[in-house]
Amino acid sequence: MLDKKLIDKIVEKQGDLLYTTLAEECTELAQACCKINRNKFLKKDIKDNLNNFFEEICDVQINLQAIKQQVLKETGMSSTEYEQYIKTWEYIKKDKLQNIFIGTSIEELYNKLSKAGYIDKDTLEPIACMYCGSKELEDRDFYKEECYVVEYSKYCKRCGKKLGTWSYGNWESF
Ligand SMILES: [Zn+2]
Repeated sequence: MLDKKLIDKIVEKQGDLLYTTLAEECTELAQACCKINRNKFLKKDIKDNLNNFFEEICDVQINLQAIKQQVLKETGMSSTEYEQYIKTWEYIKKDKLQNIFIGTSIEELYNKLSKAGYIDKDTLEPIACMYCGSKELEDRDFYKEECYVVEYSKYCKRCGKKLGTWSYGNWESF
């Protein structure tokens, strides 16, 4: 936990600047995320990027705590009221997280992917890479049975990720 005195000092010194500072810290966090993504794409080590990421996360959290004091000061809201507001958002946060990680059925996922233009709506065949957006795809890993292809996979030509497998007439893509 942050020292209350330190937060009071920040609030007093920075005042309105806090909002700008938070926006800047968020931008830096976004940049840290982009760096991770880029290095993953280039297949480089992301250890240093992760350090940078945690540093930025920490800065954003410090600013959020400081801005809380600023909001209390500006609105005259009590700390308890503030916590109640946050609680409401906690429920929404839980809902959102659930949707991202466990609430999404495979049908919903396919629906989202086809709406976003990554897979064909009817056949579920990949038409664009869901990792890098490229439309240059290639078929590989052909598997034959008695001269007939019964299975093959689709890969992204740009980033090399496997996007789906066609097996005995059906696509499994994600
Ligand atoms: Zn790709």
